[in-house]
Amino acid sequence: ITFEDFKLNKQLLNAIEEAGYDKPTPIQLEAIPVIMGGHDILGIAQTGTGKTAAYLLPLLMKVKYAQGTNPRALILAPTRELAMQIEENIGLLAKYTDLRFAAIYGGVGPKTQLSRVHEGIDILVATPKRLMEFYLKGELVLKELKTMVLDEADKMMDMGFMPQIRQILEVIPRKRQNLLFSATMPDKVVELSEEFLEFPTRVEI
Ligand code: AMP
Repeated sequence: ITFEDFKLNKQLLNAIEEAGYDKPTPIQLEAIPVIMGGHDILGIAQTGTGKTAAYLLPLLMKVKYAQGTNPRALILAPTRELAMQIEENIGLLAKYTDLRFAAIYGGVGPKTQLSRVHEGIDILVATPKRLMEFYLKGELVLKELKTMVLDEADKMMDMGFMPQIRQILEVIPRKRQNLLFSATMPDKVVELSEEFLEFPTRVEI
């Protein structure tokens, strides 16, 4: 199986080739068809397995590029470092598209991030606190979200982000696709996945 078999568009296939990805990794082989099929997914995978591209490639096929102002997909990450890494991955894979994306996270002033958001965003990467901060100030509209990703959910629970995640779930559309990735499955992540996912397909590598 090659990336061509996933019916990705030409822009994505070109970017994949340029990134030097010869063939899909095991988590990509399992997760990409499930996510493209519209199902919720519970992905158990460590960093280094290619899990980021496993959810980004289907997202990059689903989300319409350069449309409207408000994000259609949200990727939540526990730390600024991971948010920046995901943003970099989007940049790499979306380089031949006109997709608009940004990452918002704490530890830096809001100004640059806000101007990116106001320019219009297709896919938003965020840490939970900065996301709620922007939302509560009325800077972000989340009612057009169709897909939500929780990356490194175990780390998110360790860092005590459950209240923020609950708050976010309350203000986004109920009808949406949910993707959860975690390296480990402690009880807290099992509970989170039961709250967050609907009839998920479990993918483990
Ligand atoms: P991740 O597990 O998402 O942090 O990815 C780990 C590293 O693998 C990143 O540097 C990716 O760019 C790279 N990667 C992702 N998919 C593939 C692939 N199919 N072939 C080779 N490298 C990949």
